[in-house]
Amino acid sequence: MVSRIVCWLAFATLLAAQDDPEWHRAIPGFQIAGNLYYVGTAALAVYLINTPQGNILINSDFPEDVPAIRASIEKLGFRYADAKILLISHAHGDHDAATALIKKQTGAKLMVMDADVAEEESTARGRPGAKVDRVLHDGSTVELGGSRLTARLTPGHTKGCTTWTMQVQEDGRTLNAVIIGSPNVNPGYLLVGNREYPQIADDYVKTFAVLKSLPCDLFLGAHGAYFDMKAKLEKRKADGANPFIDPVGYQAYVAEREQTFRKEWAREKAHPGSRMGDK
Ligand SMILES: [Zn+2]
Repeated sequence: MVSRIVCWLAFATLLAAQDDPEWHRAIPGFQIAGNLYYVGTAALAVYLINTPQGNILINSDFPEDVPAIRASIEKLGFRYADAKILLISHAHGDHDAATALIKKQTGAKLMVMDADVAEEESTARGRPGAKVDRVLHDGSTVELGGSRLTARLTPGHTKGCTTWTMQVQEDGRTLNAVIIGSPNVNPGYLLVGNREYPQIADDYVKTFAVLKSLPCDLFLGAHGAYFDMKAKLEKRKADGANPFIDPVGYQAYVAEREQTFRKEWAREKAHPGSRMGDK
């Protein structure tokens, strides 16, 4: 019964999300800094790391978004078929539903954090059923053509939610990029007495400790909204400075998200059985 309610909630959340037109609106791809590019939709982030030995992609979005992702990659002057490695922020459909499709079209190797592998390979409704080529662990590195990404386990939102970090060179400067997996407690999530994920609240606590410890110049994440992408793109047009270099914005965002989590955790402790979004 409990799992049926969880399934229904997950499905209802998915339906509501699929209705958001921003998720599927194509926007032009753009350079963030150095060899790091944005090739996602208006709301769902996809990152491309260009190297002399091919490209790394982070996230796939939904299958219907793949033509827009491909067009962004090609307009930036890269080849879609040069995707050698495919990574994800976490195993939710808005970031991984098209991983099997992109693998099939490009031959990229899919690498996923251990605790999200079962979800990634699942063929349940809304899951990609994608074969994972390499299982990652907290601190695993992914290297290609002189670029190196580090997978940081930031669990809670999903059990294997991953924050990606890498260093990018721009104008003689080394910039620390942080691509947040997700710090969010979604509607319907249960932080107290969760039988399917008993350690969920402790995992969020760990995640915020990790996020606060990461050196960050380039503040990025699985959704453009995390880092106010639209406003930053406008700002860049206006003054030419790189607005994605935002260490203060990063710390403020993480602090605000932690406060929101702690408030919800306290509320659920006071009202056992109630879920995120309940009044
Ligand atoms: Zn998610």
